[in-house]
Amino acid sequence: MSRRRAEAAAPTGAAAMRTSGGSSSRREFLTNAAVAGIATLAAQEAAGQEPPAEPSSTKLPPQPPAGRVPICAISSDNGLAATRRAYELIASGVDPLDAVIAGVNLIEDDPEDITVGLGGLPNEEGVVELDAAVMHGPTHRAGAVAALQGIRNPSRVARLVLRETDHVLLVGAGALKFALANGFQEENLLTEKSRKIWLHWKQTLSDQDDWLPPPAAEVDPDVAKFFGRPTGTIHCAGINAAGDISCVTSTSGLAFKLPGRVGDSPIVGAGLYVDNQIGSCGSTGRGEANLQNLSSFAAVELMRGGLAPREAGLTILRRVVEHTEPRLLDQQGRPTFNLQLYLLGKDGTHAGVAIWGPARYCVTDAQGTRHEPSATLYERRS
Ligand code: ASP
Repeated sequence: MSRRRAEAAAPTGAAAMRTSGGSSSRREFLTNAAVAGIATLAAQEAAGQEPPAEPSSTKLPPQPPAGRVPICAISSDNGLAATRRAYELIASGVDPLDAVIAGVNLIEDDPEDITVGLGGLPNEEGVVELDAAVMHGPTHRAGAVAALQGIRNPSRVARLVLRETDHVLLVGAGALKFALANGFQEENLLTEKSRKIWLHWKQTLSDQDDWLPPPAAEVDPDVAKFFGRPTGTIHCAGINAAGDISCVTSTSGLAFKLPGRVGDSPIVGAGLYVDNQIGSCGSTGRGEANLQNLSSFAAVELMRGGLAPREAGLTILRRVVEHTEPRLLDQQGRPTFNLQLYLLGKDGTHAGVAIWGPARYCVTDAQGTRHEPSATLYERRS
């Protein structure tokens, strides 16, 4: 069996890593070094010596007993079907990374969701460019693609970057070549609905160019309701009974962006982050604000320090507000954009948080599939 077929058949994660690479590979060296470190600690403990004190930033909060964590999947507001699918797969024993990607594939394949995959809103030239990242808690490995054109499931390509390469992020033409080499089919991702919304944006953008705005009565009501720059992305995270966490973020990014613009979604630490000993965080909303604060990494670090998911997320959003430049603040000093975080703790506790509410996130657990309200800094009056 070829290496690729062998890896495709193998489970994700530690087992997959054991089957790949030669005996002197860098990965194996790192694994051996970690094992050696653990053996030294065990020997010190057995000899009654105190192991050296850990720096506080690497201390772990109390860990839940293995096998007792409630299985759960959470996502952004647009992911009810994704969390349901991810939960079912995790409950049937599928690795949480494969489960959350399978859930997100449903949304990437849905032409009605104009923020992700097929039918995502295009860049300013009318070309759909997708960003996605995946992260696997047990191995702490990540894969991502950015500004990928023509492939409807960037999350699956990101998983291949994780599994099949020694890299974390592939972009643009290189990411497309990699996807095609791995058998993905190229297609036009611009649906009629997305094309009409983009064209309407172009026609109404300026009175200084040669596009004339269409008469209001002629504007398709389905298009008119998207006037402005719609935002959206899907983030989905899942945890199994052993407390293993993985997550994925996938998006068509900021609508009508400059070609080549990359947002937060495919950047590890911004669009998503997981530390399998602590928890995970992912984001949707204004990517630039997140990139300037690496919110997902920062939130997981606050959880490491003992904060619950909700408090960690709100603390990071307050920091984002403090760092926001004046041109993006309203008269009361509040951001004119939204940023939302979705947090999952090692014990299965979770939260959604948003700068602006009302906002909600999706959950599937043993109680079923539902929306839950996110905690917010400010509420818009409807
Ligand atoms: N975070 C995404 C980006 O900036 C967009 C969004 O979630 O609306 O690319």
